[in-house]
Amino acid sequence: MIDSHCHLDPGVYGGDEGVDAAIARARAAGVSRMLTVGSGYGFESAHRAVAVARRHADVRCAVGLHPHDASEYTDARFAELLALAAAPEVLALGEMGLDFHYDKSPRDQQRAVFRAQLRAARAARLPVIIHDRESAGETLAILDDEAAWEGGVLYHCYTGDRAQMAAIVARGGYISLPGIVTFKSATEMHAVAREVPGDRLLVETDAPFLTPVPYRGKKNEPAYVTYTLAEIARLRGEDPAALDAQTTANTARFFRW
Ligand SMILES: [Zn+2]
Ligand SMILES: [Zn+2]
Repeated sequence: MIDSHCHLDPGVYGGDEGVDAAIARARAAGVSRMLTVGSGYGFESAHRAVAVARRHADVRCAVGLHPHDASEYTDARFAELLALAAAPEVLALGEMGLDFHYDKSPRDQQRAVFRAQLRAARAARLPVIIHDRESAGETLAILDDEAAWEGGVLYHCYTGDRAQMAAIVARGGYISLPGIVTFKSATEMHAVAREVPGDRLLVETDAPFLTPVPYRGKKNEPAYVTYTLAEIARLRGEDPAALDAQTTANTARFFRW
């Protein structure tokens, strides 16, 4: 099983020892690979993600500028990020995109930083991890406009509806579902989980947040992706082992991992 999106940031897990302990618990739970995302926890989180991946052969990473942090963009930082992305441990650029729910950075800056990263990803031949919150379809429109789909597009922590899911899948995109799918109230996500084509589905924790039932309320960690996978298998009426094999293969294919 692979946790396709977590934030194994030492600042969140009590230093390197805390991160290593969380990785050890994941291995014990049957999670054989983890993708830690160095984006969204301040600019320096990209460097910290690469460092964690260098320490662990079963951890790889992505680096990017989160829409929350778009106002931190400078040309020098962007050049630094792209240099970092050339490391063999880096399998994707992201997470990147638009977040009009929190609006932590001005929208024009979010759009500009998103487009700059899409162009950089294409140049570097890296797939992209998308963060989209309440952008009213604008994220999708920018992906179309930048001709991003061919390079590989993954919507992480997908919280949109079935219609948008179908539009993403029709363009060749992938959908990753988080622990929210274990919440009774998440009825549209349940519908997405049932309908998304099996060859486009990934699972993730987005740790340290969005902890699945039965640990909801506690700090999330990669070991708990097992609960998310089990719930999706239940919703789809599939054998959990078969779904695990398929989502693992999807993740490996998407990231060329
Ligand atoms: Zn996100
Ligand atoms: Zn994330």
